[in-house]
Amino acid sequence: MTNKLPFVTKEMIDNITKTYPTPFHIYDEKGIRENAKAMKEAFSWNKGFKEYFAVKALPNPRILEIFKDYGFGCDCASANEITLALAAGMKQGDIMFSSNETPASEYKYAYESGAIINLDDITHIEFLEGIIGKLPETISIRYNPGGTITLSNGIMDNPGDAKYGFTTEQVYEGVKILMQKGVKNLGIHAFLASNTVTNDYYPQLAKQLFELAVDVKKKTGIHISFINLSGGIGIAYRPDQTPNDIKIIGEGVRKVYEQILVPEGMDDVSIFTESGRFMTGPYGELVTTAIHEKHTHKEYIGVDACAVNLMRPAMYGAYHHITVLGKENEPCDHMYDVVGSLCENNDKFAIDRMLPKIDIGDYIVIHDTGAHGYSMGYNYNGKMKSAELLLKEDGSVEMIRRAEEPKDYFATLDCTPYFKDLV
Ligand SMILES: *Cc1c(COP(=O)(O)O)cnc(C)c1O
Repeated sequence: MTNKLPFVTKEMIDNITKTYPTPFHIYDEKGIRENAKAMKEAFSWNKGFKEYFAVKALPNPRILEIFKDYGFGCDCASANEITLALAAGMKQGDIMFSSNETPASEYKYAYESGAIINLDDITHIEFLEGIIGKLPETISIRYNPGGTITLSNGIMDNPGDAKYGFTTEQVYEGVKILMQKGVKNLGIHAFLASNTVTNDYYPQLAKQLFELAVDVKKKTGIHISFINLSGGIGIAYRPDQTPNDIKIIGEGVRKVYEQILVPEGMDDVSIFTESGRFMTGPYGELVTTAIHEKHTHKEYIGVDACAVNLMRPAMYGAYHHITVLGKENEPCDHMYDVVGSLCENNDKFAIDRMLPKIDIGDYIVIHDTGAHGYSMGYNYNGKMKSAELLLKEDGSVEMIRRAEEPKDYFATLDCTPYFKDLV
């Protein structure tokens, strides 16, 4: 069991809270950059490689701008996510639009923004053509082979149950229709398993997609231009997990590329990824303060954050590691439920967690909130979403999103005259 430590210290947070009260999410720019660089290097063997960061993981233009420095683009699923990418300076070809059940207006917006459209269903070929009057020159097909997928470490996922993508037969048919309609560059995309903490997922998926691309060529004569491995690379939320090694993953993909594509003369196929969790997950932390302790049937610590700030534990029972700042080296000899203030009994960041003795006023850091953390937030119980801070490489802190205020909560209603700001 490794000692999983946060990237912030009590001293840093004492300083930051002079300006920004808890709760807030804070992101580690240095960590994000080092990881992005490693990702880029791991796939540098592929000339056309491009990572399209999955915006839903951390939808903040300041973060998207960081990824631009590495030549990365954005993967978006809605018009608003495209707007965030545009706000970060993403240009023609920098946006992948991997949506499903897509409204016509959002397809139109994606097309006009120069995004590459990744079709989720064969019926969307006609749907899209009906909206924009033709098909774009570059387009992608989302593939779903069905069945289940099992990885070497036993992780299993169930594509057959997933609503996304074309079946194998539909891929062959779709490819033919698209080429007849004048498409020039065609890609295949698949997302078959989520949060895989193994270096085998991408290589296994790549093998399957490369074989499909070779089959498509043999059956239809059509050359696939790019293969999009999408998201799914996981992170070590638990201290006993071994983090993925992106270098090994990149080499694993290279090996199957050389085995399957190169001998077929397909050595110009570009590899795309749409990693989200892996790019930012470990580089975000939710910093909150213990404001109550309650001794009833269990020992509770009440904090000033709640599931509105981080929904994963409530929604999936997800584990997020917790550090009590300044008590990193104290024994974990107290068992607590660390809970938020929602009137929902699943609003628990940790259940029966062994932690050092917590005192009111202690800062509690909830780890690995850099992906699907802030972004999943909502406004249940009239609770407001927190600020987002960026810890820059020089140690300074920039607020990259202010906390919501009552006026934001009431913006879609007409009761503004009645609210008073809290003191
Ligand atoms: C969510 C999502 C991703 C990112 O997945 P991660 O597991 O965060 O890497 C990529 N592509 C699509 C289409 C997605 O829906």
